Amino acid sequence: MNRVFNFSAGPAMLPSAVLKQAREEMLDWRGTGMSVMEMSHRGKEFMSIAEQAEADLREVLAIPDNYKVLFLQGGASAQFAAIPMNLLRGRDRADYVNTGAWSKKAIAAAKKYCNVNVVASSEDSGFTTIPAFEDWSLDSDAAYLHYTPNETIGGVEFHWIPETGDVPLVADMSSTILSRPIDVSRFGLIYAGAQKNIGPAGLTLVIVREDLIGDPDPALPDVLSYSLQSKAGSMLNTPPTHGWYLAGLVFKWIKDQGGLDVVAEVNRRKAEKLYQAIDESDFYANPVEPQSRSWMNVPFTLAKPELDGQFLEGAAAEGLVTLKGHRSVGGMRASIYNAMPEAGVDALIDFMREFEKQNG
Ligand SMILES: *Cc1c(COP(=O)(O)O)cnc(C)c1O
Repeated sequence: MNRVFNFSAGPAMLPSAVLKQAREEMLDWRGTGMSVMEMSHRGKEFMSIAEQAEADLREVLAIPDNYKVLFLQGGASAQFAAIPMNLLRGRDRADYVNTGAWSKKAIAAAKKYCNVNVVASSEDSGFTTIPAFEDWSLDSDAAYLHYTPNETIGGVEFHWIPETGDVPLVADMSSTILSRPIDVSRFGLIYAGAQKNIGPAGLTLVIVREDLIGDPDPALPDVLSYSLQSKAGSMLNTPPTHGWYLAGLVFKWIKDQGGLDVVAEVNRRKAEKLYQAIDESDFYANPVEPQSRSWMNVPFTLAKPELDGQFLEGAAAEGLVTLKGHRSVGGMRASIYNAMPEAGVDALIDFMREFEKQNG
């Protein structure tokens, strides 16, 4: 068997240790004679898996007791609509920050439900910067402020948390959650599709402060209601049981690594060495301002774009796959989430140097 270094932006690599454990337990989960996929979600076996996963996530992220953790479906995209429907609570407007492709999608979805005030945008820079906080035009009557801490396509990341006072801060952390410790108490709501840093596609995590979920829009579908899902333990209907189980294995794996402090150090090192290799060369370039570069998604271009195909082919021959950049940006993109070993980044850098030597 030959595992490759998969630089996909999502669905992305999972830790080998997690996949091996899932394989071990596939046919017979701990003497039950069945796989987790075949279990009743309300049986005591799955309930123990679900509770343990939540407890481990709470420990890893140090989630305060006044926050609910929901294991939902529909991806981050369903949350683009669920957030205004749950959090407007009688208000008619919300603040949004526009830092790239995913911000734009969140904004477009929210416009169906409320007046969206775009308080800051980096569109003029081609989304290669984060707008300076002093220039944001915040509305103290906004129901919440939404932003995208890591733009998966542009490779732009906030390395700071906006200060919004009494206005709840809402963050689409799909491609940065669990990459480092965060102070959850600064947020009203954090959400993330699982397929980048949590587990397989099909599971969506929502972490929401209890006081925000009391009084949702009556037209809200039950499955999107934080209030009803929270009362039902995320089991208003059949939850994504297998994804929930695998996410639990990933949370345990993070604990085994030594927690998010250790994971963050590795992530910082991986990103720094890749950006350094890009910056030191005249052949590769990354357009993002250095203080806003993503730890997770590293887009880069070749000085000779006509060699893109040859680069991708050569990389694949070395077991370095899915490096093609997003169609809207072009070039390459290396997504280096938690499960990408440092050895994968080292191998990519070696290949880049060799390719430049041959073709630069
Ligand atoms: C991948 C991604 C999404 C979309 O997630 P789905 O689960 O496919 O809906 C939204 N926001 C960000 C930042 C992402 O990286």
